[in-house]
Amino acid sequence: MVILGAGPAGLVLGNLLHAAGVGCVVLERATPAQLRTRQRAGFLAANTVRILERHGLAGGLHRHGRTHATCEFRTEDGRFRLDYGHLGRGEPHTVYPQHLLVTDLLTQYQDAGGTVLFGTEAVTVQGLDGTRPTVTVRDADGRPGRWQGRYVAGCDGRHGAARRSLPPGSVRRHHLDHGVSWLGLLAEAPPSLDAVGYAVHERGFAGHMARTPDVTRYYLQCERGSTPDDWPDDRIWDELALRMRAADHGPLRRGPVLDRTVVHLESDVLEPLRHGPLLLAGDAASLISPSAAKGANLAVLEAEVLARALVDDLRHGAPEGIARYSDRCLHHIWRAQEFSRWMVRLLHVAPGSDGVPPFHDHLRRSRLASLRTSRSCQHWFAEQYAGV
Ligand SMILES: Cc1cc2nc3c(=O)[nH]c(=O)nc-3n(C[C@H](O)[C@H](O)[C@H](O)COP(=O)(O)OP(=O)(O)OC[C@H]3O[C@@H](n4cnc5c(N)ncnc54)[C@H](O)[C@@H]3O)c2cc1C
Repeated sequence: MVILGAGPAGLVLGNLLHAAGVGCVVLERATPAQLRTRQRAGFLAANTVRILERHGLAGGLHRHGRTHATCEFRTEDGRFRLDYGHLGRGEPHTVYPQHLLVTDLLTQYQDAGGTVLFGTEAVTVQGLDGTRPTVTVRDADGRPGRWQGRYVAGCDGRHGAARRSLPPGSVRRHHLDHGVSWLGLLAEAPPSLDAVGYAVHERGFAGHMARTPDVTRYYLQCERGSTPDDWPDDRIWDELALRMRAADHGPLRRGPVLDRTVVHLESDVLEPLRHGPLLLAGDAASLISPSAAKGANLAVLEAEVLARALVDDLRHGAPEGIARYSDRCLHHIWRAQEFSRWMVRLLHVAPGSDGVPPFHDHLRRSRLASLRTSRSCQHWFAEQYAGV
C-alpha cells in the first residue's frame, strides 16, 4: 500500500493501516521540520476527536488542546454570541493546531515502526487499469525511483500527483470560486476575545480564532490581486481593529505578525473519489473553503473510512467497503461544502452599486437576524458548525 502525503489524511491512514498489519509506506515531499511547523487548521470537531481517540491517537490533543464552544458575531446591527457547545448536539470544538496534530501522528506512526520517506516527491501514478499501480518518485537530489502497491492512497493535497495522474474524463471535478479572498494571518499575540470572532463589515470580513495562549489566527478579507507585501503589520492591526469594531467592543491584543498568506476561497469536489486502485482522501479528494474550518476534519474522517475499507479488503478479502468508499465520503463532503458556502454568504458584504445594497446583502442581514433571534436556527447552526 503506497500513501502519498503525510498530512492529517495520510498519517491517520498510515497509523490505522499499520496498526491493522497492512504494510504501507508514506511518501512525503517535505522535510520533517517543515511538517512540524506548517501552521494551518486548528479547530477539531468532536467527531474528529472521537476518531482519534478510537485509535489511540488523541494523547497530545487531550494534554494540550483546549475546548472551545462560543462564537461572537459583530455586525452593523450589533453584536451577539452563540454558545454553540450547548446548542444542537451540544458538541464543542477542540482547539489544537494542525502542526501539533501532524507531529503527534508522525511520532506515533514512526514509533510503531511505520515508514515515511521524506524529501520524496511523487511524480505520477501509473498502471491505474490494473492491480499493481506504480508511483514514480524523485528524491530531494532529483534521483528517480518507483514504488508499487495493491492500492495507492492520494492524500497529497489539491496540487499533488494523485490528482494529476487521473486520466482525463475519469473523474469529474465540480468547482466553485466563492469570489472572495482572505489574508490569513498568524500573530504572536494572545487571543483578543474568548470566542471565535466573525466581524461583518462594509470594508470586508475580519475573523479571529484562538490557536494557543500566545498565538492567534486572524483573517482579513482582501481584494483579489492583493499580495502579503501590501499588508505591513500596522495596516493589518488598524484594519482588524476597525472591522472588529474594537472601539465599541474592546481593543485587540497586538503583536508581531508571524505569517501572512492570501487564500482565494475556492471549493471543489472530485467525483468519484476512486479510479481503479487510486483512492483520494483529504484535500486531494475535495478542497473546501476555510470559512467553516472543515478541511482537516474531513481529511481525518475520510482516512478512517478508507482505512476500514482497505483493511477489510486486504486482510479479510471483503472489497465492498472499497466499492462504497466514494459514496460514503461524498455524502459528508457535500454537506460540509453546503455549510461552508452558507458561511461565505453569511460573512461577506456584497459590494453595493450606487450606494444601494444589493438583494444579496438584504439576504445576508436576514440570515444574521435569524441566527440572532431564532432558537431553532441556532440549533441548526451549532450542529453544522461543530459537526462533520
Ligand atoms: C490558512 C488555513 C487555515 C485552515 N484552517 C482550518 C481549520 O481551522 N479547520 C480545518 O478543519 N481545516 C482548516 N484548513 C484546511 C486544512 O488545513 C486542510 O484541509 C488539511 O491540511 C487537509 O489535510 P490533507 O492531509 O488532505 O492535506 P495536507 O495537509 O495538505 O497534506 C498533504 C501532504 O502531501 C504532501 N505532498 C504534496 N504533494 C506531494 C507529492 N507530489 N509527493 C509527496 N508528497 C506531497 C504535502 O507536503 C503535505 O504534507 C485550513 C487551511 C488553511 C490553508
